[in-house]
This record gives sequence, C-alpha cells and structure tokens, in this order.
Amino acid sequence: MKVLVNGAGIGGLCAAFEFASRGAEVTLKEKSTELSVNPSWQAGGMLAPWCEGEAADEIVVAEGAKAVHWWKKALPNEVQHHGTLVVVAPRDASELSRFSTQTTNHDMIDGNRISELEPSLAGRYRKALFFKEEAHIDPRRAMLALADKLQAMGGRIELDATGEPDDPAYDIVVNAVGMAEKDSRLRGVRGEMLIVRTPEVALSRPVRLLHPRIPLYVVPRADHHFMIGATMIESDADLKPTVRSVVELLNASFTLHPAFAEAEVMEMNSGVRPAFADNIPRVEKRGRQILINGFYRHGYLMAPSLAVQAADMAFELTNTEDITS
Ligand SMILES: Cc1cc2nc3c(=O)[nH]c(=O)nc-3n(C[C@H](O)[C@H](O)[C@H](O)COP(=O)(O)OP(=O)(O)OC[C@H]3O[C@@H](n4cnc5c(N)ncnc54)[C@H](O)[C@@H]3O)c2cc1C
Repeated sequence: MKVLVNGAGIGGLCAAFEFASRGAEVTLKEKSTELSVNPSWQAGGMLAPWCEGEAADEIVVAEGAKAVHWWKKALPNEVQHHGTLVVVAPRDASELSRFSTQTTNHDMIDGNRISELEPSLAGRYRKALFFKEEAHIDPRRAMLALADKLQAMGGRIELDATGEPDDPAYDIVVNAVGMAEKDSRLRGVRGEMLIVRTPEVALSRPVRLLHPRIPLYVVPRADHHFMIGATMIESDADLKPTVRSVVELLNASFTLHPAFAEAEVMEMNSGVRPAFADNIPRVEKRGRQILINGFYRHGYLMAPSLAVQAADMAFELTNTEDITS
C-alpha cells in the first residue's frame, strides 16, 4: 500500500510510523523546512489520561490509557513511566478533594510519601494525588526518534513539501495538518509554555499544581530543564506568549518550588491546539482520504490510538474495495 501522510506534527508522525510498521510504503510530507515548527514541538509530552479525566471525555481516558504501551513499543528508550503527582497548597486543599472526585486511578498520599517520590518537594506539601500509571516523554526527542525510525523502516520524509489532500499517486492519503485543515468544525486553543533550567530542583515525573486561578504543570526534561505549562486560550491567533501569561506561569512555578524563582528562562513559546467542539479527536475516512485531527490537549495521548484506527481503516479498505478506482 502506498501511503502519503500530510503533516509531520505528532498526528502525522504517529500515523506514518504505524503504517510503515505494518509494511506500507510511506511518504511523509511536511510544509515547513523543519519538524520543529508546530504545536507538537511545544507540548509537555504528558501521557496522563486519568488526570485529564478531570475534564476530558471517557473515550479520551480509555484510549489514552493505551498510549503508554504504544509509545513503549515504538520508542522504548523515550518513555518515562513514573506517574504524575498532583499537589496543592494547604490553603487550597478543597481543590485536591475536587480533583480526586473527578478523576480515577490515583492514590491519596501523605507528606512522607511525597518526600520519597520527589525529595525536592520534601516538607512542602501535606497531601498529594499520585497517578502511578501515567508517564511522560520529551516531545522533541520523541518526534525526532519517530522520524528516524520511520526512515529506518524505508519511509521517506519530505520537508518544505506541501502535500495534496487527495494526491492520486497514492492509495491512501492521511491528512494530519492540524489547524491548516479546511474544516469549519475546528477551532484553535492557544497554549503558552516556558522552558526553564535550574540545577536546584530535581523531579522524576510531571507535577501538577492545582490552583483556583492558575493551574500549572511542570514536566522534567534532561539537563535540569523543566517545561512549564500551559495556558488555555480560546483563540487561533498564533502569537508569541503574552506578558501576562508569562508572568502568571512563572509566579505559579515558584509557588510550586521557590528555587524556580532563580531558574534561567531558556525559552518562551506557544502553539495553537486544533480542537473540535467536544474536544475529542477524530479519525474520519472519506474515500481514499483519512483525516486525523482535533487533538486539543491530547496530541501525545491520543495520536497512537488514532494512528492505529487509521491504519485499521486503510488496510480494511484496501482489502475490501478497489481503492485505485
Ligand atoms: C503548550 C502545549 C502543551 C501541550 N501539552 C500536551 C501534553 O502534555 N500531552 C499531550 O498529549 N498533548 C499536549 N498538547 C497538545 C498537542 O501538542 C497537540 O494536540 C498536537 O500538537 C496536535 O498535533 P497535530 O499533529 O494534529 O498538529 P500540528 O502539530 O499542528 O502538526 C501539523 C503539521 O502539518 C503541517 N502542514 C500543514 N499543512 C500541510 C500540508 N498541506 N502539507 C504538509 N504539511 C502540512 C504543519 O506545518 C504542521 O507541522 C500541548 C499543546 C500545547 C500548545
């Protein structure tokens, strides 16, 4: 099967990888000259289906729960499987109770257990929720590693190449172009993030700080780097982060740990998350075209599931129809 995948965000990369691993001849076209010019590059990389269950639909929790296994199989060296810690300042304790009732698959832990898990947070929090089955990856390393593996399986990657949504040279065209898709059902939700560096904090897992106004998460990366995110702004304006958002994210970060006040700010960036009205991503078949889009906050969490569904659809299609007619 000859497959064209348009768009090398996380949706397109996962789909290209899935098709190639099932023996398809895959070409991945990306409009930009680099893999780094999209919201996928700016993501936190949290694989956190149960935490996301606070607001996400059950299908996101159920399908997202399978993502860790897909990622471990695809990129065994990239997945950090140490769970997620959700903490709250003592004055906001009711937020933790609320979060625990809206989510599942967690343990309420005390200060001693928090110190064992994250010594940097010792003495700072009395209670936390521990979602031990969750995981995280570094999105940038994961995107590059997927691209490498795709090429090792014989897939072609063409950068600076705008793909046609229905290129007749291919049996199947997968369109995973994010906000570039001409679909009036899609809206943009801008997310702003920062990367800071401090050797004074060490974390093994993403830590979420519940806060009535500025909820925040911090995701540890290599070499004392931390990704701090992320705002949720109902807008498809692809702007740099605003002063207000940066100030609020930084303020909240040193509420989590005072050492973040002295951290170096390495990067401030933003991305527009493509979303449907119900915030549930979709895979849709239209003849030989397959649409993968609407990942909202769940690109890394849901791209594996949509990639598997897209490949199932395509292989079933090629077995049952004359797709070239
Ligand atoms: C700050 C932030 C934090 C996030 N954190 C997380 C997280 O922790 N966990 C999680 O699961 N998700 C997270 N997300 C969500 C996730 O990043 C998005 O859902 C995801 O990036 C959407 O991926 P995509 O592949 O659909 O689109 P995109 O990343 O936008 O990729 C689409 C690509 O298609 C290309 N393109 C457009 N038109 C064409 C064409 N005609 N031909 C070829 N190429 C084309 C574009 O250049 C682009 O590279 C976060 C998002 C943001 C902004």
